[in-house]
Amino acid sequence: MRYISTRGGITPITFKDAVMMGLASDGGLILPQTYPTVSRDQLESWRRLSYPELAYEIISLYVDDIPASDLKNLIDNSYATFSHPEVTPLVAKNGVYILELFHGVTLAFKDVALQFLGNIFEYILAERNQIMNIIGATSGDTGSAAIHGVRGKKGISIFILHPYGKTSAVQALQMTSVTDVNVHNIAVRGTFDDCQDMVKELFGDLDFKEKYSLGAVNSINWARVLAQVVYYFYAWLRVTDEADAPVHFSVPTGNFGDIFAGYVSKCMGLPIDKLLLATNENNILTRFINASDYSLGEVVSTVSPSMDIQIASNFERYLFHLFAERPDRVIEAFAELKEYGRILCTPDEMAIVRKDFCSVSINQTDTLQAIRDFYSETGYILDPHTAVGVKAALELLPSNSSRICLATAHPAKFSETVEQSLGFQAPVPESVKALYGKPTRCEILPADLDKVRNFLVAHIG
Ligand SMILES: *Cc1c(COP(=O)(O)O)cnc(C)c1O
Repeated sequence: MRYISTRGGITPITFKDAVMMGLASDGGLILPQTYPTVSRDQLESWRRLSYPELAYEIISLYVDDIPASDLKNLIDNSYATFSHPEVTPLVAKNGVYILELFHGVTLAFKDVALQFLGNIFEYILAERNQIMNIIGATSGDTGSAAIHGVRGKKGISIFILHPYGKTSAVQALQMTSVTDVNVHNIAVRGTFDDCQDMVKELFGDLDFKEKYSLGAVNSINWARVLAQVVYYFYAWLRVTDEADAPVHFSVPTGNFGDIFAGYVSKCMGLPIDKLLLATNENNILTRFINASDYSLGEVVSTVSPSMDIQIASNFERYLFHLFAERPDRVIEAFAELKEYGRILCTPDEMAIVRKDFCSVSINQTDTLQAIRDFYSETGYILDPHTAVGVKAALELLPSNSSRICLATAHPAKFSETVEQSLGFQAPVPESVKALYGKPTRCEILPADLDKVRNFLVAHIG
């Protein structure tokens, strides 16, 4: 298997090189040259596999430059950190299936990908005798999952900037209570945008980037998408064991990473009917699917903050396929976006989009109401991101089909919003209780690039 760029500017590379490159060197996103297809017989033969066993079957279709036993170990170690024996269990409630993706260490679905990515990074760096200094900005979920993915790993240091006092209390503790020597939290007196701008500046300084071996863990790494493909297969195998109805997935969407993994599963032959793309008020992708309107708006802050995104970084991967895998068309579309703030598609292209996807945007009032309704009907507490997807599924997907709703975070992670909706907090898991009272380490800095750069230089191994 070789990997190419959506912008057409790299010669095909191996899996390991694709992981280490992150963003393609021509500014595009990395994709496999083809998607391996899985026959119905092969699918059936996977029914009784455990999550890590299934992960190995799927991931190994895309990886031919890591020996089987090493790859198995990397996968087993990644999912041994999950607190549920099924890793991503399904529960049936109120006519929908909830696919619980939040049993990892930071209680959000990003652990599924970042535990794997951290292990792969460590493996490749050791083999190549290299080191990496990961720098990233976070509004909460990605940073904590990334820190837990690489804590204590050899050859890697991580520096995560978060806006001081602007993450949820649990998110902040999940980051600052990690006191391994290779982990550095920087709380910036400023906004998430200040953090992100400084990280962009640091990566833009190519000499600095080279000299200090800077690396990233943002949602565009192919290994992250690949790890997420596994739970679409896992969920499909579980629900089709019980019923023979068409299967739909509802996906609360921000950067289009999670739902793109669903699209990849479909391309591999997994019998998925529709992928339901659920958004909050930041609904550019819903406007695109329903009204062919991909035009940038302002970012609105909502009760599902991990979906407060206008430019969905993984969307370029989908556009590449939509545009018949023509890099020139991708380049043209992004030039258009830069100049006019929008991308236009033909009616034929939009017909293709609507064959695979449907979409709805759920506002904050309805999200809070959905948490209340679902609780009063089932006693089950949804986190606000999951609630967007569940509400969307109940609204749009036929009740005689298997509706699988991706639960992207544990409700205790967003307890402020759950309390706002229900009047009480979600029960707090032991792992969260244990965070309070743990020693913490965090550097508080002004939103000043020189100060941040000096801190990095002083602490880079
Ligand atoms: C990141 C995140 C999302 C959005 O996922 P994308 O892959 O960016 O579309 C949804 N819910 C939660 C809780 C998240 O952390």
